[in-house]
Amino acid sequence: MIPYGHQSINDEDIESVVNTLKSDWLTQGPLVLEFEKKLAQYCGAKYAVVTTNGTAALHAAYYAAGLAPGDEIISSPLTFPATTNAALWQGLKPIFVDIDPKTGNINTDLIESKITSKTKALVPIDYTGRPVNLEKIKTLAKKYQLIIIEDACQALGATYQAKKIGSLSDLTIFSFHPVKSITTGEGGAVLTDNETFYKRLKTFVTHGITKQNLEHESPGDWYFEMQNLGQNYRITDFQCSLGISQLKRLDQFITARQEIAQRYQTALADLKNIELPPLEETGVSSAWHLYVIKLTGQLATQRPEIFKKLRDAGIGVQVHHIPVYLHPYYQKLGYKPGLCPEAEKFYQTIISLPIFPDLKIEEQDYVIKTLRQIIN
Ligand SMILES: *Cc1c(COP(=O)(O)O)cnc(C)c1O
Repeated sequence: MIPYGHQSINDEDIESVVNTLKSDWLTQGPLVLEFEKKLAQYCGAKYAVVTTNGTAALHAAYYAAGLAPGDEIISSPLTFPATTNAALWQGLKPIFVDIDPKTGNINTDLIESKITSKTKALVPIDYTGRPVNLEKIKTLAKKYQLIIIEDACQALGATYQAKKIGSLSDLTIFSFHPVKSITTGEGGAVLTDNETFYKRLKTFVTHGITKQNLEHESPGDWYFEMQNLGQNYRITDFQCSLGISQLKRLDQFITARQEIAQRYQTALADLKNIELPPLEETGVSSAWHLYVIKLTGQLATQRPEIFKKLRDAGIGVQVHHIPVYLHPYYQKLGYKPGLCPEAEKFYQTIISLPIFPDLKIEEQDYVIKTLRQIIN
C-alpha cells in the first residue's frame, strides 16, 4: 500500500540519533535547547519550546496564554480533534466557525459574529499546510484584544507574505509526527516572540518546576520549586537530534511536496467532477502536508465507492478530517450536526491522495493513472 504520508529518514538522520544514544544525555540534555534555537531561527521567531507531541504543545499554548475555565476560543472543525481537545483540558469552550470551502480554512468573514465577551483566543488551523488568512485574523484579534494561537501542525515550512509560519501569531503550534513536515517520531513545538509566554511554556512542560524567581528562600543547591501545576511534556535528546538533522532537510522536503502537488495538478486538471486544491495566491506558499481532492457533480455522493476502489488498488488514501464536533464525545457535549454546513459538505466529498518527499515518480504516476481509470 502506498501510504498518504510517510517520513523520510536518511543515514545522517540515523547517525545523529545513534550518536546521541551513545552520549550522556538521553533527555534533559543540551540538544533540546539546540533544537529549540534552530527551530526558532528557521521560523524567524524569538523562542521555541519543544514537547512530546503537537497535542501537548497545544495544551501548553492554551496554558501559557493564561486562558481560564469558561473562556471561549474560536476555531474551525476541519482539523484533528487535538486542536480543541487540548482546549477542553483547560476548561475552555470551543466555538466552531464554518470553513471557506475553497481552502478548508476557517471562513474569516464568519468569525466576528461569534465573538462574545467570553472570547479570549482565535485558534485558526492551517489546513493541509496552507496558511490561513492571517491578515484578517490579526485585524480581528487587535480589534477585540484576542490572542492568536495558530495550529500550524500541518504547516511547518509554509510562508505567508514572505514570512515563515511560526513567526506571525502570538503562539504557533507544530507537530513532528512522521506524516508531518519533519519528524522526531512523536514531537511538537510552540513558537512565540513573547517572553512571558515562553517562560510559562518552559515550566509547564516540566511539571511547573523552576529554579528561578523562587517564591521561598533557597536552603541549598538541591532546591527547586513547583510553582504551577504542569505536566511532563519533555521530549528526549535523541528525538531532538533527529529533529535538528531533519530541519536541515526541511526546505528540500517542501520543494519535493510542491513538485508532487504540481504534477497532480497538471495530470488531473482535465478530470470532470473533480475539484483540485486551489493554486497558491501570491505571497502564500503551502507546506503541502496533504493533497486533498473534492468530488463534485455526480461524483459528490460516490466518495465511499471511489475511496474503496483506490484502497483496493493499493493506494492508501485517507479522509482529512471528520468535522471535530461530529465525533460522539463532542455530540455528548451538546454540539449538533448542522453547526457548520460547509465543513460537513466538504467532509463528505474529500479524499487525500499520497504526498510525501520520498513518493517515487512511478508511484505518483500509478496514483494518477488509477484515479483517472476509476473516475472515467
Ligand atoms: C497532527 C496534528 C495535531 C496533533 O499533533 P500530534 O503531534 O499528533 O499530537 C494537531 N492539530 C493538527 C491540525 C494536526 O494536523
